[in-house]
This record gives sequence, structure tokens and C-alpha cells, in this order.
Amino acid sequence: MESLELATTERKEELNEYLGEILARVEAAASSSSPTLVAVSKYKPAGDIMACYELGHRDFGENYVQELEEKARILPTDIRWHFIGTLQSNKAKILASIPNLYSLQTLGSTKAASALNKAVSSDRPTPLRVLLQINTSGEDSKSGLPPLGSSEDVSGSEVAKLATYVIKECPRLRLEGLMTIGSLELSIHASETEKNADFETLKQTRDILKAYLCSTLGEGSASQWGQERTGRLLLSMGMSSDFETALKAGGDIVRVGTGIFGTRPKKTI
Ligand SMILES: *Cc1c(COP(=O)(O)O)cnc(C)c1O
Repeated sequence: MESLELATTERKEELNEYLGEILARVEAAASSSSPTLVAVSKYKPAGDIMACYELGHRDFGENYVQELEEKARILPTDIRWHFIGTLQSNKAKILASIPNLYSLQTLGSTKAASALNKAVSSDRPTPLRVLLQINTSGEDSKSGLPPLGSSEDVSGSEVAKLATYVIKECPRLRLEGLMTIGSLELSIHASETEKNADFETLKQTRDILKAYLCSTLGEGSASQWGQERTGRLLLSMGMSSDFETALKAGGDIVRVGTGIFGTRPKKTI
């Protein structure tokens, strides 16, 4: 088993300062009772994660199955791993084999849902939480399902179909909410007072989906979806540049990488 290379004292101090600052800003901007800060650690060494863990942080996000699997193997098992990358169905098995995988935030097809549901072990004490990824900005470069608007036929929409599929056909998954990445343009140009259209679109999609699920599956079905504790369909939105706006708009989960760990090396493919 590989050993864990710990961060230097200097790096630990740096992470203490950055994580502390982001946590304080999350708390100040929070509108939901207790939002989750997912520290996005892709490309960053396991020692950085361990330093944040020692500061008491437990929620970490990763984008690549292999990188996550390697880190999970050498890091404490009470870390809550959030998978936020694109899932290829052939990687579902490896991903689901990580016992402390807490959620997958990027579900986008019944094929992926089915593969994941099959891959999750019956030994897992709780179903795997999944969030449906919504392409709120409609950019070709982004994955995710089209958002819902008030005028359209909800029952025919991909979001409604996938949500229903997860609830009815995937007993080892639990539909916990919706996620968006959103447009970088919008986040840069939205001022403090202005609303971010991506976040408003995600909220509207959630509200329409919720009404649809209640009406088609019955009020009694509500225990089968949403956050276990509150039953709410959660919203995962906001990153380093715009997490405060997202929280003020009602976000429940923010995903912050650069703001905590610093800039990442450019991807070299
Ligand atoms: C990398 C990544 C983040 C973190 O982005 P930062 O701008 O570094 O905070 C958040 N969400 C997703 C889906 C990502 O891929």
C-alpha cells in the first residue's frame, strides 16, 4: 500500500488560512441552514487533503475515477467523497467500490444510473446519493440535461424521466438534488446585486421537478427522494468565483477548489 506524503508545515499553514477564510465566507453568505462546502482537490496531492482533514474538514470533491480511487485508498475512511467529474459507464464499478463515496453529482443518463445502481454493493448501509447535472447555460462544452421552464411539458423532459427512473428503478441510489456548473461569463459579469441566471434556472428546475414528483408519485413518495434529513432536493451550485452568490441564491452545496488549494496545473492532454 502506498504511503501518504504529508504536506510541509508551511503548506499546512497556508491551507489552514485559505480553508478558514473560505469557511468564514460560506458561513457569512449562507441562506440555507447549513450548507456543505465541498473542497475540490483534483490534481492536488493527498497530503493537501490530509492537512484539511486534520483541520476538521470532511467533504472533498474529485473529478477523475482513478485519481479518487488512489486517494481514497490512502486517506481516512470517514472522508465524504463527492464525485463531480463526468462518469463513463465503464468506470461505474470502480467508483462504486469506494466505500466512503458519499455522492455523485453529475448523473446525466439512465444508462449511467443503471450501471451505477448495479455496481453499488448491497453491503452499503445507505443508498448512494446522486444529483442530476443540469446544463443551465446551454453551452455545448458543458454536460448535463436541459433545464425545465414553466411552459413546457415536464413529463416528457429528460430531467423528469431520469429522476423518475432513479426513484423507481434504482433502489441503491437516492435522488438528492440537482447540480450545475454554469457559465463562467455570467459568474464574472454578475455583480453583487445582480442575480446569476444559471442559479435562478437551477432553482426553477428544482421547483418544477419537485412539483412534478409530488403529483405523479404521490406525497407519500417524498421519503424516497431528497436529502435524508430534510427531504429537500438540494442544489449544488457555485465555485471559487461565485460561491457566495450561489449561497445567497439558496444553494446548499458549493464546490470550491482554487480558493482553498490554489491554482491547478493546466491539463496536459
Ligand atoms: C474543478 C471543479 C470545481 C472547482 O472549481 P474552482 O473554480 O477551482 O473552485 C467545481 N466544480 C466542478 C464540477 C469542477 O470540475
